[in-house]
Amino acid sequence: MSKETLNFQAEVSRLLDIVANSLYSNKEVFLRELISNASDACDKLRYAAITQPDLAAEDPDYRVNIVVEKDNRTVLVEDNGIGMNRDDLVENLGTIARSGTLKFMQQMEQARDAQGQVNLIGQFGVGFYAAFVVADKVEVETRRAGEEQGWRWTSDGRGEFTIEDCADAPARGTRVRLHLKEGEDEFLEDLRLRRIVQTYSDHIAIPIYLGQGEEAEQLNTASALWTRPKSEITDQQYKEFYHHVAHAMDDPWLRLHFKAEGKVEYTCLLYVPSQKPYDLFHPDRKHGVKLYVRRVFITDDCEELVPAYMRFLRGVVDSEDLPLNISRELLQHNPLVTKIRQTLTNRVLNELKKKAEKEPEDYAKFWDSFGAVLKEGLYEDPEQRDTLLELARFRSSERDDVVSLKDYVASMKEGQESIYVITGENEDALRKSPQLEGFRAKGIEVLLLSDPIDDFWVPAVGEYEGKAIKSVTRGAAELDKVKTDDQSEEKAEDKGDETAIGTLVAFLKTALEDDVKDVRSTQRLTDSACCLVADDGDMDIHLSRLLRQHGQ
Ligand code: ADP
Ligand code: MG
Repeated sequence: MSKETLNFQAEVSRLLDIVANSLYSNKEVFLRELISNASDACDKLRYAAITQPDLAAEDPDYRVNIVVEKDNRTVLVEDNGIGMNRDDLVENLGTIARSGTLKFMQQMEQARDAQGQVNLIGQFGVGFYAAFVVADKVEVETRRAGEEQGWRWTSDGRGEFTIEDCADAPARGTRVRLHLKEGEDEFLEDLRLRRIVQTYSDHIAIPIYLGQGEEAEQLNTASALWTRPKSEITDQQYKEFYHHVAHAMDDPWLRLHFKAEGKVEYTCLLYVPSQKPYDLFHPDRKHGVKLYVRRVFITDDCEELVPAYMRFLRGVVDSEDLPLNISRELLQHNPLVTKIRQTLTNRVLNELKKKAEKEPEDYAKFWDSFGAVLKEGLYEDPEQRDTLLELARFRSSERDDVVSLKDYVASMKEGQESIYVITGENEDALRKSPQLEGFRAKGIEVLLLSDPIDDFWVPAVGEYEGKAIKSVTRGAAELDKVKTDDQSEEKAEDKGDETAIGTLVAFLKTALEDDVKDVRSTQRLTDSACCLVADDGDMDIHLSRLLRQHGQ
């Protein structure tokens, strides 16, 4: 077959642009990205070979080779993993497959417009395209395990790539050949390459060699990081493993490494990112925690392993007990997986509790990124409700920083029986809401809830430590019972002219007959003339608006 020329998806061209312009101070990460892909490719083949042993039989030792050809000024990164066929090449190297990534790119471009430079790149694994930071031409020669035909993908990273047959592709797997740009000769030096691999890729579980054949030198420790004793793992190694497993570039906010022994045996190495992943609320996001069985990668798509409200977690779970050839379907109702999820959930929540107690400011940062997700648990996981209520933090009408329910209750006014909340789309609008006026006048704190999930958990949870959680928009608020700090000042004329008010209310009732259920006079407004409230037992106003928006 002859050579085909194809265009990159428009977004890839834009991404390449951004990458080339923003990674220049940290060029060496290209090698980490290529090694990370090589390792993922070996993981995929190892999994496929469980059911189709022939795929890997001829060459069972997975590895990565880095080969330098000084005369050609090229660097090769070669693996004997799953490889790619023509369609894989078009799909994986010609487009940005995940729609979450597209969204991220839009954000990134906005950031560029705003600041004239891109800082956001730091939180995003640029992956394969990082090759174009040091190379002006990249060739990918590859053969998919079990297939005859080999392929060569070539591009200079400027809008087009070509695909053609390739007879000298590896027998199985992928060879990425970088033609270094002018001035990038440092990446031809053994010393430099060795340092890069040791810095960024030591955690990779398969051997990474410099050179090929007999004289090749192994550069990494080549044992799965999570199996090593904690005392032998450096912070840097933990961090680099996070970058690899999470496909992210930020520093983890929290890590948790433990081994469960006993009836069910497994090892967990989990991380909470410091930056919010851009696809947290995206339906086609991948699951962040990978499942391994005795060091063999099984899936990154096991929904049962981590509750949905902890989908910000990244890392691995490696089970000693699950059968290797377990199908992804069978994982679904597996009691071992359920057991792992329960322990893992408890452990993570415990760590969060410790953080919340010991480092409240740092915890507030976590809450800012992931609170909206964790709160889903209040609704979905009644078993953990008490813990989650303890962990929850809220914006408040009376403070600048966030407050816990415990602290809210501690500062309740005399005579105040309930915890008051207001829900809506954004905090600023809530702060200005007329519904708050009466509360503010009496110094009563109202929690400002602006995440969509708030409308669901508030009615489901109902109360905290015997105090009802009430929306200020519902029914007549019990403001009268609450003593102000300065009750004596209340004067008779504050009540207004009762007959006049009675006439006005009667008039409004008739006038608005078809639109509202009732009209009442109230103590809760101080500046505004009127506001809408929901009746006790009726749906909260914001919730009913939300449901209407969703056509229900
Ligand atoms: P990511 O690794 O986050 O998926 P990359 O840009 O690094 O993104 O890679 C894009 C895709 O290209 C990978 O998901 C994979 O399907 C494919 N790919 C890249 N390198 C290899 C390789 N060495 N072997 C097989 N497939 C690869
Ligand atoms: Mg990658």
